[in-house]
Amino acid sequence: MYPEYMQESLKKVVRTRPERLKLAKSGKELYPLMTDDERKEILDKFHPDYQPDAKREIRIGPNKGEKITTEVADLLESYSRINPKDFDLSNPDYETDVLVIGAGSAGFAAALLAEENGAKVILDTKLRIGDSNSMMAQGGIQAAVSPDDSPALHYLDALGGGHFDNKPELVRALVSDAPYAINWLSETGVMFDRNPDGTMKLKSGGGTSRLRMHSARDYTGAAICRTLRDEVLNRPDSIKILEHQPAVELIKDSNGRVAGAVLYHLENKEYFTVKAKSVIISTGGFGRLHIKGFETTNHYGATADGLVMAYRVGANLLYMDSVQYHPTGAIYPEQIVGFLCTEKLRALGSQPVNKDGDLFVHPLEPRDVESSAFIRECLERGNGIRTELGRDGVWLDTPLINKISGPGTTESDLPAMVRQFGRYDIDITKEPILVYPTLHYQNGGIEINDHCETKIPGLFVAGESSGGVHGRNRLMGNSQLDIIVFGRRAGKYAAKYMKGINIGKLTLDHVYEYEKEVEKLGVDRKKIAPMVLPDYVPESVKKRQYSTHYEGTLR
Ligand SMILES: Cc1cc2nc3c(=O)[nH]c(=O)nc-3n(C[C@H](O)[C@H](O)[C@H](O)COP(=O)(O)OP(=O)(O)OC[C@H]3O[C@@H](n4cnc5c(N)ncnc54)[C@H](O)[C@@H]3O)c2cc1C
Repeated sequence: MYPEYMQESLKKVVRTRPERLKLAKSGKELYPLMTDDERKEILDKFHPDYQPDAKREIRIGPNKGEKITTEVADLLESYSRINPKDFDLSNPDYETDVLVIGAGSAGFAAALLAEENGAKVILDTKLRIGDSNSMMAQGGIQAAVSPDDSPALHYLDALGGGHFDNKPELVRALVSDAPYAINWLSETGVMFDRNPDGTMKLKSGGGTSRLRMHSARDYTGAAICRTLRDEVLNRPDSIKILEHQPAVELIKDSNGRVAGAVLYHLENKEYFTVKAKSVIISTGGFGRLHIKGFETTNHYGATADGLVMAYRVGANLLYMDSVQYHPTGAIYPEQIVGFLCTEKLRALGSQPVNKDGDLFVHPLEPRDVESSAFIRECLERGNGIRTELGRDGVWLDTPLINKISGPGTTESDLPAMVRQFGRYDIDITKEPILVYPTLHYQNGGIEINDHCETKIPGLFVAGESSGGVHGRNRLMGNSQLDIIVFGRRAGKYAAKYMKGINIGKLTLDHVYEYEKEVEKLGVDRKKIAPMVLPDYVPESVKKRQYSTHYEGTLR
């Protein structure tokens, strides 16, 4: 139920709906797609990445001198959580062949394939196993499987969406492994939506030229992640799980290889060490950095810890100047601000309209362009709807879905959306929802090759913490695919790599070396990373706390 002050605008949406519906049903273009020049112009003017203070030069480490997202540069220029002197590395608490850090779907796929390739695995995670962005994914996973589609077309779409900055070898791996990834998931137990004849139900996504998005209603991520989690839990003899133990630093050996990690146990507040022949980082993204003050769709643990740890051992980053804002984050009611409203809503027929009920952009422009159009409509043109807490947004006219895609589509294909808004007395089959761009995805990350190797021997990366697959803008459905394709590859190649390895003497010397550089910059000693958990305690409260060593959520 919407408040009184929104009613006038809602009436206008209802008034313009029949005309917009007629247009959608006519098969004519709903709203002209922007030309390349128009896209460039709107991105330059309105996308948060293109604002003057969005980036700054990083002053240390492998990417020194490059301009990267300001909040990421701040995070990387910081001290370690540990003092290496406190650790006796000659006597590690755990030993294994492959250590996987992070238990989302990339971590699960990696652990399973490492195990299948003969490795003993430790899967370590910060929160509970499965607490991750993977679990929250809604819309779907892409793969070219229909007769009018091909991996080559998928390749071109991914490249175009990424502004042609993607690493070609990674896109090739992504699209050519895609059909096999879907088969593997189906065989492992994921129940994708199917047509009555048993073929996959395929939908479109922003920026894609064919229908190739597979989904399980609007909880695709949970369907995949839970299935893989169960499979991991089924192999207790070879995959050991450590929960509530964020990794806070990687360990190297005397030959310069990555050979383990230091973990911090959130419950008993103790540190533990793991010695491993190879390490896979699958710690996901950075939504909880709240870049440029944006709300986020990401889970509580998305604090870029993997980037920090990898950077300190010398692994370089790619495209850390680029952030994905999803156009449709909820901005009303306040309890769910930032919450993702899946792109599938637009794929099934809902249209973005302004306070007067007018369409102002094609519903399925690439995400960065669509987001910029929403920002322009609210901030420059003043055509947004303002909530009582001063947030601006536009309507997403969801009642159109059942009229365009068939009666009952919303209830059958978007049950999580129906439930989420239903909790606040908003029936999305009858009323539109209020949305604004929300921080969604880390486009860049740690550079890998198509075997998921970084430039540092022994260190592999898969999933959202890697960079290069999606260039500077990821298309919908390609991340759920990325985590399966590269999770599997990371597991396989990390297991192959470890077979010939004798680990040298363990060391944390790189932490000293890195800190020397941080010190030269005159950085405040209290600035430490990885962040591990986001800090939402207001300054006024911190001032009243007894501890004089406030270090985020860990003290
Ligand atoms: C709400 C939402 C909806 C989405 N919908 C889609 C979609 O429909 N289609 C699509 O393609 N993509 C979608 N995405 C993006 C996609 O789901 C993610 O990019 C992807 O799941 C990331 O997987 P991952 O395994 O790399 O990271 P995650 O799934 O985030 O897993 C990272 C894991 O690492 C753990 N971790 C973090 N730091 C540490 C540490 N220091 N030590 C140990 N463990 C650590 C975390 O707790 C977590 O378990 C969506 C994302 C969100 C947030």
